[in-house]
Order: sequence, then C-alpha cells, then structure tokens
Amino acid sequence: MSNKEFPTAEQKEILLSPKLSREISEIYQAMQEGYEKVAEDITLSCRDCPDNCCDSYFQHHTFSEWAYLWRGLRQLDGKTLDRITERAKEYVRQSADVLAIGKRPQLMCPLNEDGLCALYQHRMLVCRMHGIPATLTRPDGQSMRFPGCFRCQEIVSDKYEKETDAPAMDRTLLFRRLAALESRLMGERRHLYPRVKKTIADMIVQGPPAIDTPHCER
Ligand code: SF4
Ligand code: SF4
Repeated sequence: MSNKEFPTAEQKEILLSPKLSREISEIYQAMQEGYEKVAEDITLSCRDCPDNCCDSYFQHHTFSEWAYLWRGLRQLDGKTLDRITERAKEYVRQSADVLAIGKRPQLMCPLNEDGLCALYQHRMLVCRMHGIPATLTRPDGQSMRFPGCFRCQEIVSDKYEKETDAPAMDRTLLFRRLAALESRLMGERRHLYPRVKKTIADMIVQGPPAIDTPHCER
C-alpha cells in the first residue's frame, strides 16, 4: 500500500458495505447500458477519436463514488498504486496553477495508463456518460439537456434536423439512485457532513474518504 496517512487517528473512514458496493456497481452498469444504447442509435464510437476525454476536468460530489474508487485502488499492486499516486500529486499541483490563473485545467487523469483506464470497473459516473446527449431533471424541477462531446455533436448535426431530435439518455433516475445511496451511506445525515467537490486526483492524494470521529468515540 502506498503513502496513505488518512484517515487520521481522529477520523473514521467511510466504508461501503458489500450491499452498497453492489448497488453502486449496478448504478454504474445501468449507466453504461444506457450509454451504449444511445451511442449505438447515434452511431457514436470512441474508436480512432483524436480526443481523449480522460483529460477533461471534472469534480465529483459523493462520498460513495470516492469510497468505491478506493475499493478499486486497494486492489492494485503497490507499485501501480505508487505510480498513480505520484501522477495524482503532479495533477493536483499543475491543476492548482492553472486554476490560479482562472483557466480550466486540461490534464490527463492520473488513472490513465497508456491511453487506458487502470481502474475501468471503478471509474466514475461521469466517465460512463460523457459523450452522448443526455437529459436531466434537477430536484427543483428544471430540465437540462447536454449535447454530448464534439464528435457526437458533429454526427447529430449531420443526421438530425434539430439537436433535440437526437436520442438522449435520461440521467435523472440514476442520479436519484446515487443520491439515495449517498444518504444511506451517511446514515441519512448527509446534510451534517461537508460537501464533496474533488477531482479523481484529489481523491487519490487525500486517501479514502473519512469524517471526524465524534469525541465520544475517540
Ligand atoms: S466521448 Fe467523444 S470526444 Fe470522448 S473519446 Fe469518445 S468520441 Fe472522442
Ligand atoms: S477514471 Fe478512467 S475513464 Fe475516468 S477519466 Fe480517469 S482514466 Fe479516464
């Protein structure tokens, strides 16, 4: 295992139970199947794409995905984890510099090894949905539509009269399932804990998710 100093003595790691792990992998699987269906309808393929989406800057917002990522990281051999951790530290350093000048970082994800995801089964929700058109109804009722990646937009503008004529994946239900899972993971007290807003690199460098241990349990 690598350099992990987290959680500290005054923190408790947030661990997914086998049941919650299974549920999150089912959500991921459903997302993947939905993606494949829409990609097939649109005829979008990542094959020979000049871009690599793994350098897109994304932040992630749940302890559940963070903990699931760490389930995957713990299955890697020590050398691989050390290599990934070093890249993650570099990512954090470089992205801080880019953000400091008001720009959006475009850096390769530390989990990408020779163009492939080293943690494919544990990759994040956003990695499974980027590319295709999608819709989302937010908790406040507002509807959103995402056009997909540049290649998808090119195909859509050739094939469909209007962008909204193209098939799109509705993310709403899966996002709700993830939010419900997050609440259960946090003992239905999610609102008491800090917001999560972290890149994959942050999650690697900071170690597995942890929360302060109540004084009575120290
Ligand atoms: S999602 Fe789009 S931009 Fe990304 S690799 Fe696939 S085709 Fe290329
Ligand atoms: S987790 Fe994997 S799929 Fe997602 S950005 Fe990183 S390397 Fe790419």
